[in-house]
Amino acid sequence: MDLAFMQTALAEKADGGYLRNRHCVDYEQESVICIDGKHFLNFASNDYLGMRQHPQVLQAWVEGLAQYGGGAGASPLVTGYSKAHADLEAYIAKQLNREAVLLFNSGFAANQALCQALFAEPGTIFADKFMHASAIDGALHSEATVKRFKHNDILHLRSLLEKYPDERSVIMSEGVFSMDGDSAPMQELVALSERYHTSLMLDDAHGFGVLGKQGGGTVEALSLSQNQVPILMATFGKAVGTAGAFVAGSQTLIDYLVNFARHYIYSTAMPSAQAVATLQSLKLLSNSKARTELMENIQFFRQQANAQGISLTDSDTAIQPVIIGDPQKAVAISQRLQTLGVWVTAIRYPTVPKHQDRLRITLSAQHSHKDIQALVDALAIVWGEL
Ligand code: PMP
Repeated sequence: MDLAFMQTALAEKADGGYLRNRHCVDYEQESVICIDGKHFLNFASNDYLGMRQHPQVLQAWVEGLAQYGGGAGASPLVTGYSKAHADLEAYIAKQLNREAVLLFNSGFAANQALCQALFAEPGTIFADKFMHASAIDGALHSEATVKRFKHNDILHLRSLLEKYPDERSVIMSEGVFSMDGDSAPMQELVALSERYHTSLMLDDAHGFGVLGKQGGGTVEALSLSQNQVPILMATFGKAVGTAGAFVAGSQTLIDYLVNFARHYIYSTAMPSAQAVATLQSLKLLSNSKARTELMENIQFFRQQANAQGISLTDSDTAIQPVIIGDPQKAVAISQRLQTLGVWVTAIRYPTVPKHQDRLRITLSAQHSHKDIQALVDALAIVWGEL
């Protein structure tokens, strides 16, 4: 194979303004991030509630390491499944009122596994256009026919359900959308799934931990039952502050995944220490003030940004995009913000649709009003320069 195609592909990306680069983080302390020896206020993390560095979560990691060692040592069906995993699964199942829960090493793996295992036989997946890449790729690689409906567009979804009736089908949506921060019309999705005898599969990566009185996410916030959302997936790498993911649902769903989900069966289990730390984080979150602090920060940011004439979207979550519409411009603005001491990531096509390149600002309970004011001041300067 001639490997020169890679250079061509990279050059094409660079030409369009879409080349991706990594930034190496030296360390982080609360809302401050140090990159290449420089300090910035961090508005680009999904650590919405500041759990990643919570002392009791860190302590749980250490205790878990002492008890179980560093790695799980084997896949779950060999000897990798420990009491730490079982305890975490049981806690989440109880918290969310689901019969059973299964842990995965990442949300990416969980979404892929669900699509692969549920659609080893032909069927239809009706997926919101803005679903995460892991779900879309999983769907496209499965045996299902994939029908994508316009983002949060219930009428479009209904027309697809009418046009392509299929007894073996699911509707896939996110609770809170990762790049837009808006929420799915859950009641309507539930109603459609009941009316058309399909099943709702929800990716609540950005709702879990943040929404609901105890942090149970979208399903808790809206009191949705297991029957209404029979396939629920969420991740630990965001508000929970660790890593990994889970699927929650009926005992039959979980037994089925244990037997058929290749990402579960053939992958080394999540380190037990990670499960111990995750459980500690969830226990702390069930009764945490951080959710209220985050909501206050969101309101404060929106008030201040509106006062400065900065165009925001309708999002009322921690994810606050500022649409720029051009990839090079989005990157230039993000770099300019860095010179003003603020770290905000530019998100470009293909992560978001063409001409919707944006700054993805994420707020956290850890930000002080002073931090947020500094962000708005920096945005106002850049906005003026535009
Ligand atoms: N689903 C959504 C909506 C996400 O935002 C992400 C993370 N970017 C994932 C799934 C994948 O989760 P993980 O990072 O745990 O692989």
